[in-house]
Amino acid sequence: MYTAEHVNGLSIREVRCATLLHRMNYGWRYPEYTLNLYRGCLHGCIYCYAPSLIHDERPWGQYVDVKINAPEVLEHELRKAARGVVFLSSASDPYQAVEAKYRLTRSCLEVLLEHDFPVNILTRSHLVLRDLDILKKFGWIRVGMSITSVPNRMFEPRVPPLERRLETLRRLSEEGITTWVSLAPIIPNLFMVDLEGLLKKLKEAGVSAIHAGVLRFEGYEDSRKMFEEKSGASYYGAILGSDSLIHKVNDLIARYGFDTSPKIFEWKDKNTVLEKYITP
Ligand code: SF4
Repeated sequence: MYTAEHVNGLSIREVRCATLLHRMNYGWRYPEYTLNLYRGCLHGCIYCYAPSLIHDERPWGQYVDVKINAPEVLEHELRKAARGVVFLSSASDPYQAVEAKYRLTRSCLEVLLEHDFPVNILTRSHLVLRDLDILKKFGWIRVGMSITSVPNRMFEPRVPPLERRLETLRRLSEEGITTWVSLAPIIPNLFMVDLEGLLKKLKEAGVSAIHAGVLRFEGYEDSRKMFEEKSGASYYGAILGSDSLIHKVNDLIARYGFDTSPKIFEWKDKNTVLEKYITP
């Protein structure tokens, strides 16, 4: 059972979910979870991997299912879950436009805070600033902003402009929140940003770490087809020269003093560490 509404040709559907937290199997000491409060993403990036994971017949970027009972389901699941970093989100943007109305990310952050879970957010939207009051209460939190080599409406139709994202990072850093940037996907033969200029601005914005990644569609066939249809470019042509380029990009990132290691995401349960030292 669901209710649906159509706004400017976009389908927004309210649904109820049975489960929410998804535990990743990295084999690390502490569990890591992903949390998607929305199914689908109105940002509609044409290089997005999510359509290959979701397999929905509706056109990508034109629909979103809103899991309206997410806070209750999360509350129930957290009571039984071992503490570990919760990542929002792997297959949707937690601050896409519908979040302004439904406030699911905000409500779920409140639940996570109450249960003292560490949180890592990745978004392309300045709407994350609305929740600064909650973000600042977390003992451990990271907020990342995605920036591609093609920050342009043709490739990411409803993503806020790059300048807005830079300003968001600056505000977050000023408020004492550790920020990072996912510089991905880099499309080697489609470079619309001045990389060096961008790195300077990210430095000024107080960003701590940058993780760069080249466009890869191996295992994501639906996404490759979408990218090729919408951009008119061939995938293999677009990524020619990737290997040497990613080395140069990483060298430049390191030269500007950004952390490129996974250290920024390492979280340790302070209670476990204490026990270790107390136990003879
Ligand atoms: S913001 Fe992320 S999840 Fe949404 S369409 Fe773009 S790449 Fe996909």
